[in-house]
Amino acid sequence: MLKREREKERQIAMERIIYLIERAQKFKNIDYELARRYIELARNISMKYRIRIPKKYKLLFCKKCLYPYRSDRFRVRIHKSSVIITCLNCSNVRRFQLRG
Ligand SMILES: [Zn+2]
Repeated sequence: MLKREREKERQIAMERIIYLIERAQKFKNIDYELARRYIELARNISMKYRIRIPKKYKLLFCKKCLYPYRSDRFRVRIHKSSVIITCLNCSNVRRFQLRG
């Protein structure tokens, strides 16, 4: 395949990923299982095309159980200079360093 075509394909895949994650955000309070399915599809596309999901979108769901973070399903704590996010579905913990 031509390089240009591959670039185009990756571009379309990225748009699809963002669309799916935004859709998951819209549905998470209506149908949590469906929302998770959207995240799963987005992740499958990202793995197939080896595209990194932008950080902004990656912070919207748990990377272990793939459920989108919902106000009643996750906890955020700030400890020293890091943010600790705990998923209440699978108890997965993520840490992010705060800068400055
Ligand atoms: Zn989880």
